[in-house]
Amino acid sequence: MATAIEDWKSDLTARLARVMPEPEAELYLPLIEEIRELKARSGAVVVAHNYQVPQITAGVADFTGDSLAMARYAAKTDASTIVVCGVRFMAETTRLLCPTRKVLLPAVDAGCSLADSISAADVRGLRERYPGVPIVAYVNTTAAVKAEVDICCTSANAVEVVESLAAPRVIMLPDRFLAAFVATRVSCEIIPWAGACEVHERFTAADIAPFINSDVVVLAHPECPEDVQKAASFVGSTTAMSDYLIRTSPKRALLLTECSMADNITVAHPGIHFERPCNLCPHMKRITLERVRDSLRDGTTEIHIDPALAERARTPLDRMLAL
Ligand code: SF4
Repeated sequence: MATAIEDWKSDLTARLARVMPEPEAELYLPLIEEIRELKARSGAVVVAHNYQVPQITAGVADFTGDSLAMARYAAKTDASTIVVCGVRFMAETTRLLCPTRKVLLPAVDAGCSLADSISAADVRGLRERYPGVPIVAYVNTTAAVKAEVDICCTSANAVEVVESLAAPRVIMLPDRFLAAFVATRVSCEIIPWAGACEVHERFTAADIAPFINSDVVVLAHPECPEDVQKAASFVGSTTAMSDYLIRTSPKRALLLTECSMADNITVAHPGIHFERPCNLCPHMKRITLERVRDSLRDGTTEIHIDPALAERARTPLDRMLAL
């Protein structure tokens, strides 16, 4: 009779084998088992972004989602330690929403081209240049930048957040393509910042051209360039794209976002064939099973935010969550 351990191992191997050769999936099992034991011993929870590889999301994560959902999930648990499988700004957001817990980032070098495109000094410069104009920051920003703005938004609620301000002009930072997406859906003027995500800005309309007038459903993230968004059948956040695919179950789809997103949907909901291209995020890929194991075992690397700065950075997040 199979033991419970053999059961989860064979179930996980079968799911991972939807996106990788079975021998490769089996190679991950010892490390996954070690991480599960470390988690059980420490009572830690592991939250993972949709762009993490399936051996992390399906193998060891308690929750997988977008950056805000990860932080909100962590806040609802009573775990004293939270391991964030994502990039630094995500770990900071988790720390802001879980100020009394230990928040660990397994790869402290996991940055983000978008978050790094703007500094707190840049935001103060915008305040001086546009006095009285409210500033909305995408959650893909550092805590230092959040501390300078009026309200945060996600790619899912950006339109609602801007409209809630009822202002004739609104500054949206740091992603210029998300700002353009919002500008076509609101009545006020949007003043953008010139930042971009190095993963999504690389998609071109030529990538989509072979799939126009075919049975392939093309989904684009709002961080993609405007002509890519215009040519896509659906534009939405990672959560919205995932929900759309699960709800409509197309036979073939092209996901214009990070490659692991399609793999994670396939592992959880097989049946959709995903076309390429997709792009890899080098920052997200700094998180590996080995680093998650080391993080849990050694308590590395803990994310700290100066309490006064954290207080200011939490305010725009709380304003968004109160909408
Ligand atoms: S996918 Fe883009 S926004 Fe997300 S972490 Fe990578 S560079 Fe940053």
